[in-house]
Amino acid sequence: MTDAVSKSLFERAQKTLVGGVNSPVRAFGPVGGDPVFIKEARGCTIVGADGTEYVDYVGSWGPMILGHAHPEVVAAIQQAAVKGSSYGAPTEAEIEMGELIAELVPNMEMSRLVSSGTEATMGALRLARGYTGRDVIVKCEGGYHGGADYLLVKAGSGAATLGEPNSAGVPAAIASTTAILGYNDVEGTRAMLRERGSEIAAVIIEPVAGNMGCVAPDPAWLACLREECTKAGTLLIFDEVMTGFRVALGGAQARYAVTPDLTCLGKIVGGGLPVGAYGGPREIMSKVAPLGPVYQAGTLSGNPLAVAAGLTTLKLLRADGVYDRLEAISVSLTDAIVAAAKEAGLTAHRVDDPHSEAARAITGADVVVQRVGAMITTFFSDGVVRGWGQADKCSRARFAAWHGALLKAGVYWPPSQFESAFPSVAHDQAALAKTQKAMVAAFTAARSIAAG
Ligand code: PLP
Repeated sequence: MTDAVSKSLFERAQKTLVGGVNSPVRAFGPVGGDPVFIKEARGCTIVGADGTEYVDYVGSWGPMILGHAHPEVVAAIQQAAVKGSSYGAPTEAEIEMGELIAELVPNMEMSRLVSSGTEATMGALRLARGYTGRDVIVKCEGGYHGGADYLLVKAGSGAATLGEPNSAGVPAAIASTTAILGYNDVEGTRAMLRERGSEIAAVIIEPVAGNMGCVAPDPAWLACLREECTKAGTLLIFDEVMTGFRVALGGAQARYAVTPDLTCLGKIVGGGLPVGAYGGPREIMSKVAPLGPVYQAGTLSGNPLAVAAGLTTLKLLRADGVYDRLEAISVSLTDAIVAAAKEAGLTAHRVDDPHSEAARAITGADVVVQRVGAMITTFFSDGVVRGWGQADKCSRARFAAWHGALLKAGVYWPPSQFESAFPSVAHDQAALAKTQKAMVAAFTAARSIAAG
């Protein structure tokens, strides 16, 4: 239940802001109820408009890996702000950012800074089309890469592999330049690239899926993608907007030791301010304007405040022990979720590798908690989730009851089952203890709802 102050703010918001929010998932549509309006945040705590404190696992949908209002990040933004907020001309800090990105993600020998993850994937895909001279791009069912027309596409019916729009306003002709693959589908991937590879400019994937809930990649699938893309002359793009600097300092490509042709970044790279980036080897990136014929530009690209926040965040993440701490927090949280579900009388499993035989043998469960690094999803699923087909079968009703009870108990979890929760290094023992208690109440509420 949402507090009275948020309720009244939501009523007011709906008069002038579409749906009362500036991005659809914030409207709490998938779980029902009204959104909590936020007044402020610090560390792992987010404060609602009426002063209620919540343990925050949304973390602005990923960027806040150090926790909210980290003093060094705040100081960096303040120091940058007094020197002017935008010049529309290059700065030394942008060079430092390019150098640091190249050091942490060696695939990104050259990069282009933009202002969002959406812009990063759009830039990378236009570059792939310009570089290869091909039009078709491939994405996975259940994957999300931002709001470009050719990415708001679902699988076509029947034998058609060409996509269909899944938003009004996307021309069918544009959607038909996108083909859809099943996430982790080794056979389908091989077949598509062998049959149609010569038309395909790029395959773009989330190297750990986060937008159907957290689903780890099958290393065999990543290897197949790498091999078949190379053979077909198709660029493999890792959309690391979510996974970059989260599942490892070097992103999913470091964690799984697979090198894409191009990489997209967002979220953490801006430390909570709007930054995205795309990059890759010099040979490919030199096709981007002003060096090459692929146009891409942005008034606020490389904005000094945003770069200051991002640089400071990345430097703090580079310190010893950060990812060990994040891993320990994430493991504790996962174990707490599973323990709470069991305490509430549900059958629950922690799944670290959804591709293991043991995981694939799970049947008849109520809850499956999947995690990769600091990305976690509680699936109300009877078995492991390896792709959208299984994710789509989860109990939305149970999730909604669970989510509502968590909120009531002071835990702010992403308001959709098909999202990842994002613990930060600021989640301390007190926050985890509060979460564990809330989880028992939440699973008890979920249990009272019939699955389905
Ligand atoms: N790619 C992935 C994997 C994402 O999760 C998102 C956003 O959640 C985007 C791209 C789009 O990024 P943005 O919302 O910054 O435009």
